[in-house]
Amino acid sequence: MRAPLTRRSGQDAAPTFAKLQTPVKQSLESLNNALKQSHKASTTFQKALDKKLRVKPIATDDNALLADYLLDYAVGMHLTRDGEFGVVTEFMNEIPWKDITSAPAGNQDYGALQTEFQEMYYILREMRSRHNLTPAMNWAREQSDALQARGSDLEFQLTKLMFISILLGVNNESASPTQRLLKAMMYAREALDRFEGRYIRTIQLLLGTVAFSANLEQSPYGNLDDYSPLAWEEVAVLFAQEYCSSIGLSAASPLSLAVTAGAIALPVLGKLAAITRLRRTEWTTSNEIPVEISLPPGFMHHPLVVCPVSKEVTTPNNPPMLLPCYHVVAKDSLARISKLGKYRCPYCPQEGQYNQAKRVYLD
Ligand SMILES: [Zn+2]
Repeated sequence: MRAPLTRRSGQDAAPTFAKLQTPVKQSLESLNNALKQSHKASTTFQKALDKKLRVKPIATDDNALLADYLLDYAVGMHLTRDGEFGVVTEFMNEIPWKDITSAPAGNQDYGALQTEFQEMYYILREMRSRHNLTPAMNWAREQSDALQARGSDLEFQLTKLMFISILLGVNNESASPTQRLLKAMMYAREALDRFEGRYIRTIQLLLGTVAFSANLEQSPYGNLDDYSPLAWEEVAVLFAQEYCSSIGLSAASPLSLAVTAGAIALPVLGKLAAITRLRRTEWTTSNEIPVEISLPPGFMHHPLVVCPVSKEVTTPNNPPMLLPCYHVVAKDSLARISKLGKYRCPYCPQEGQYNQAKRVYLD
């Protein structure tokens, strides 16, 4: 039985192989074609990407190194402010000018800043994830004078939140409603007293709500938002703002502000570049763009005032002056339109004395 079978297999092998060869060859070819196509697409994509993302060097003059340094400094500052301390350390090790010991004037030392931000993030963590207000309250008490001088209500907001959290039994679920109420009233008596001058109305509403602590929705007093979990986040944001102010920094990172503002401005600038190219013109004024780009209110920094009389931008030497009629003109213009210390407003017919005008300070 075996011999015929072998012989038959031997005879059949050649045509079978020949038959098999064709599909294998075909699939190999089609695979190769597909590979070629995907390779071509990837090369085209790479080229297009390179073309789109071609970045011009920031500066080509002698200040190039300083410009690069400042950019890295901004990145380092942003990471520090974001609490990414491990990343900052790595970043500082990698940048080529880590040996530059003297930072440009006005720049703060990373190490000292890191300690400050570590404290801030510790307090925020306690507040957000453990509903523990004590570290924040201790910090606010230490900074009490500075906070009051800035007109900040952080201390009151923390005390208010503490009162509410006692009333709601936050971190003290085992206490009965009556126990919570008594504890909250005791806390109010010892802690809210000192705020009566400025916040008497809010305190009255808070204490009015106490009578409704079992059924807050029915309370005709106060703001129910104060009792929602969102209140914690609001106070945490306020705390972070005040903390940044206390170390001389703005609440938002300048780098993220600049990048966001840039992203908002980019479509307009792109359109502008296209038009400039089409008309073969160039904008030559440095540090100024030919179109106005409106940014959200939070992005307004260092506003400029243009005097409506002289059409000049006001400066510290020629500051804007507020007239009693609430119109504003530059100081030099006011001097020009004044005669013997008297002027007539160029916008409304109201007359006034030169020395009644008040200087306007821009921030
Ligand atoms: Zn006027």
